[in-house]
Amino acid sequence: MSKVKHKVKKIGTDTWMIEQYLLTSEAGAYLVAGKEKALLIDTGLALPGFVEAVSGLTDKPIEVLCTHAHADHIGANRFFGKIYLAEEERELLALQTTPAYLKKMLNDAIPAPLRFLLRKEMAGILQNTTAAGNYEYIRDGHVFDLGERQLEVIATPGHTHGSLCVLDRQNRWLFSADTVCDWGILLHLEQADPPEVYLESMERLRDLSASFDEIWPGHHQKPIDKSFLDEYINCARSIVEGTAVYGRRQNARYAKYGRVLITVPDGGTR
Ligand SMILES: [Zn+2]
Repeated sequence: MSKVKHKVKKIGTDTWMIEQYLLTSEAGAYLVAGKEKALLIDTGLALPGFVEAVSGLTDKPIEVLCTHAHADHIGANRFFGKIYLAEEERELLALQTTPAYLKKMLNDAIPAPLRFLLRKEMAGILQNTTAAGNYEYIRDGHVFDLGERQLEVIATPGHTHGSLCVLDRQNRWLFSADTVCDWGILLHLEQADPPEVYLESMERLRDLSASFDEIWPGHHQKPIDKSFLDEYINCARSIVEGTAVYGRRQNARYAKYGRVLITVPDGGTR
């Protein structure tokens, strides 16, 4: 039985969700096609079969938008043409594609007993996840015109300095990557922003929420409804205002509110 699985699901006209599973890990990408070209939102982990699965879905040329530069969103970048990324992610891209850093991250993420079983996949991730590629750096408000279909980039710093969400006003969808999901948002990782910044991003998404009904995240349940925004806002506000009660997981603390949690760096002064 293969250790790598892909699940492709058509979620609307000319729109697909491509999920990759590697035993303990899971990553979601989305392919959105217009009349002239298609945009692949994130390329997931660099696992075999992904590029073929995506390429078979459309005959339009495919460009890539990375919502941020974490390794599980940029893995297959080098197999595609143009790659769009936020300007603020340059440094993180360099870090996440440094072989020694990537190797340590994989070792931390994959429990020792599974590493031997996944050695081929880990080698593939290390080999493929590089900074090579035709990058174009973009900013908030960038509009992708795919041919009778427009996608709008919303800068939502927090999880990383240059985290982006993508708004499809025609279909009333928000692609939210690691900025909104049904489980929790990580603000304890290297190059995350302080909770104040994430709170501002979430308030901005709430202000835009009359333009979308469903949220398609990068991980966990897909899609989710927009009522999660208020829970993240309340959770982030409790951290910012100093009223949060913290739990602990691995090397981070987390504050919980309703169905969601937000992690912050351990040893902080809050
Ligand atoms: Zn991430």
